[in-house]
Amino acid sequence: MISDSVHGFDQIFSQTQPLRTLKGFLQKDAIPHALLFTGIAGIGKRMTATAFAMAANCLETKPDITSYGKNPPPGDKGTFADSAVSPNPCERCSSCKKIRSGNHPDIIFIEPDGAMIKIHQIRDLLGTLALKPYEARVRFVIIAESHTMNPSAANALLKVLEEPPDRTIFILTATEASTLLPTILSRCRRVRFNPVSRPDIVRLLQITRGIDPEQGKTLAAMAEGSFGRVLSMSRSNWGRRRKWLIIAGGLENPHLLSGRSRSSLLAFSEELAKSKSTVGDSIAVMKTWFRDLVVWKYAPGKIINQDLADQVRCASANSTVEALLKKIEVLEQAQRDVATNMNLRLSLDLLMLRLGEP
Ligand SMILES: [Zn+2]
Repeated sequence: MISDSVHGFDQIFSQTQPLRTLKGFLQKDAIPHALLFTGIAGIGKRMTATAFAMAANCLETKPDITSYGKNPPPGDKGTFADSAVSPNPCERCSSCKKIRSGNHPDIIFIEPDGAMIKIHQIRDLLGTLALKPYEARVRFVIIAESHTMNPSAANALLKVLEEPPDRTIFILTATEASTLLPTILSRCRRVRFNPVSRPDIVRLLQITRGIDPEQGKTLAAMAEGSFGRVLSMSRSNWGRRRKWLIIAGGLENPHLLSGRSRSSLLAFSEELAKSKSTVGDSIAVMKTWFRDLVVWKYAPGKIINQDLADQVRCASANSTVEALLKKIEVLEQAQRDVATNMNLRLSLDLLMLRLGEP
């Protein structure tokens, strides 16, 4: 929670449409059994799922609902619509607090065990779902990065999606719907999340981390709409990392990059792969670098790496727009490969070899 006044759905920025949809479900007392939240990493899908579970179970804002699921009781009292109460969870009642702290027995989170969600995780879940919820009005199963389910896990989940237990809602999150089995997709109501806007990222950085707007703007420009990425950049020493990428990665002079030997390119990708958690950030930083080299040619005042303007000027002079755009494309492909969990080392090897092409 950001503060007492900014809580629940209010702390989720840039997601007007998805929130409208979700609040509509709450107000109409008609929550689909399975929801699929799609969108890039770090834009608040999981946070929204948590707020939604809180809202559906909040003791203050929705006191009388006793049942959701297959048979919502006719004339059920105390809906948001009846009581004209906002569907925002209170964050003060015992239910909200338990959910926020991750201690609610009926709000079940599943995330990849290593690189994948495995069959044993879904089997454990099915065991739990065979019992009635302990205390929740509505039990929630939130499956993060559901595109990482291996086929046997996905098939086991499909069975329960086909015959969902009473008072149980599934929320799956994934970067892209196309990465899920069509049979799973067809069972889910899709809710699309947007990249977070730059002004919202700057605002969030200021509220949550006390980062001043000027620095926030640079970070936001590199984040490509992912607040999660911006947070990890602001925590890690990204300034130093950026320098390392540009100098050790040979980006300082893209022209020379193509003269590098295969072995030195692969040695660099090996280094990159060592820090799995920062790979996404590294690729984003490299992209902003090449983007800046293009931008310099037309509007030097608009580059992101303002503090490296001299280096940008030299490197830009040494490369053509066509060659730079090709490198940006290669980096975008690498981002997709990493996001869809393709073998990391292989993706990075391919990335460096392609960047090294003339
Ligand atoms: Zn509450």
